[in-house]
Amino acid sequence: MPDYGHPLRFGSFITPVNSPSSQPVQLAVLSEQLGLDLVTFQDHPYQPSFLDTWTLLSWVAAQTERVQLSGNVLNLPLRQPAVLARAAASLDLLSGGRVSFGIGAGGFWEAIEAMGGRRLTPAQGVDALDEAIDVFRGTWDAANPRPLRAGGDYYRVNGAKRGPAPAHEIPIWIGAYKPRMLRLTGRKADGWLPSLPYLEPGDLQRGNRLIDEAAKAAGRDPREITRLLNITADQSADDLTRVALEDGISTFIVPGDDPDVLRQFAEEIAPAVREQVERARGQRGTQTLARVRNSVALSKRRPGIDYDGLPASLAARAVEPGDAGYARYTSSYLRGGAPGLVLRPRTVDEVRDAVAVASKHREVPLGIFSAGHGLSGRSLNDGGLVIDVGALNTIEILDAQSGRVRVGPGARWVDVARMLTPHGLTITSGDYGGVGVGGLATTGGIGWLAREHGLTIDHLRGVDVVLAGGDLVHASATENPELFWAMRGAGANFSVAVSFDFEAAHVGQLAFAQFVFDASDTARFLSRWGAAIEAADRSVSGEIILGARQGGRRYAPGDARGRL
Ligand SMILES: Cc1cc2nc3c(=O)[nH]c(=O)nc-3n(C[C@H](O)[C@H](O)[C@H](O)COP(=O)(O)OP(=O)(O)OC[C@H]3O[C@@H](n4cnc5c(N)ncnc54)[C@H](O)[C@@H]3O)c2cc1C
Repeated sequence: MPDYGHPLRFGSFITPVNSPSSQPVQLAVLSEQLGLDLVTFQDHPYQPSFLDTWTLLSWVAAQTERVQLSGNVLNLPLRQPAVLARAAASLDLLSGGRVSFGIGAGGFWEAIEAMGGRRLTPAQGVDALDEAIDVFRGTWDAANPRPLRAGGDYYRVNGAKRGPAPAHEIPIWIGAYKPRMLRLTGRKADGWLPSLPYLEPGDLQRGNRLIDEAAKAAGRDPREITRLLNITADQSADDLTRVALEDGISTFIVPGDDPDVLRQFAEEIAPAVREQVERARGQRGTQTLARVRNSVALSKRRPGIDYDGLPASLAARAVEPGDAGYARYTSSYLRGGAPGLVLRPRTVDEVRDAVAVASKHREVPLGIFSAGHGLSGRSLNDGGLVIDVGALNTIEILDAQSGRVRVGPGARWVDVARMLTPHGLTITSGDYGGVGVGGLATTGGIGWLAREHGLTIDHLRGVDVVLAGGDLVHASATENPELFWAMRGAGANFSVAVSFDFEAAHVGQLAFAQFVFDASDTARFLSRWGAAIEAADRSVSGEIILGARQGGRRYAPGDARGRL
């Protein structure tokens, strides 16, 4: 094989010094500004001149927006795997899916022991990592209802609750050199992450061979395992191109403590390697793969969908039935689903790409999914496509004075309310914060402010939509007015809404009260309720939930009661 056809990525390897503590953070931010894909930090928890790597990763995640983050590599012996798995999933959720998981078996045993860790032989260290990987994956498998039992001699997890599910499938990369670790990498990991200074000539080929053999023996495709390399600062673009094409390395990580080295790497070397590798792949007919799925995942694909024909803009984030993030799409609030492919565009252009994919799949059903609270269940389907616009979730106050607000379809109403409240603004919506803007603003919107403010769609002033043919058009009372009329009530039948302009209302203090009534004489209760609401000022809206008495009991003393 090698080249395995993986997309090329470039990252930095930054020393997590704590004096000055801002230094690694600034270098990480610079890495992102320079366009690098990945920022990594070594992890030596026994080293007092370093910041704790996990804390630093969390801090850097908050200071950056796009770049991927990883330990290089995390020290397993001093990090309890079940806790580490939850920490990684949490940071992945908080950072929008930017965590990768470089991990190692540990090395400096005296220092590890001095910190209270258990000294292991190299063979035991590999077995411990083997167990820990099961703990990581088992913890992240939040859709699995069974309690997690994993590990064995080193880490025994015995009935732990699973979750949280990370925002994306966190890749596990192993820092491996010796045959046992390399075979473990081939059997279980998603990536191999050695450092060039520790390698002898020929080690990359030997390592790849062992990994590939172990992968095949475990029924895996060797291409499932990304090959990464910590390089030295003196590597030229030609050196890296050769390593990419001959040794299958696709992610190069440069020492990142010198801003000039980072700049040269990002601005000169990385673009040159990209260009040369792309050219060579074109000549050889090697396809660059967005992602390699294992045979189990491939067996779950549904008929009639051209999985391999997706545009690059959508392929990496697409979710298939065999992927970790799929559970999100197996039930909307009230109904189940089993879509064949979920496209997750992040921009309007990507929505257009997704609509183009859908137009090539007219034989399978299509669902548009915003926040997944649709009562009809049509945002999901069985075996079809779903376009999840959840990533288009921005909320902008264009003009607080006039109440002009622009909201993406993926925002949830609770987020809209949080954003508007400090400005004294509100858009009447439903009674439940988890409902999405996309679903509610294309259908109606009846909520707590309905009697005074009407429906949500009464406050819609314009909407940007991607039509079935791929055109992006604006619809308002004056521009495409018929489409505007259609979007306000039957939106999903006409297009995919990518942005809504609302006129929010200025409101003062709001009050909310909840009463419990004895409605045994239900007809009488309802007519008196109706009369009371009709007589009330229009600023008062009311909703009734009628329920049977629990176990035949009347309300207990102390329950709130009312009488109509
Ligand atoms: C717990 C709960 C409480 C609710 N309370 C209220 C309430 O108080 N008032 C009220 O009016 N409704 C209420 N609803 C109903 C809710 O408003 C609708 O079901 C709404 O469609 C859900 O929107 P969503 O984006 O969360 O759902 P999704 O399932 O993501 O989408 C629902 C449908 O909307 C369409 N759609 C979604 N996004 C787009 C888009 N970008 N462009 C075009 N079409 C799109 C699709 O047809 C999709 O099938 C409630 C629902 C639940 C589950």
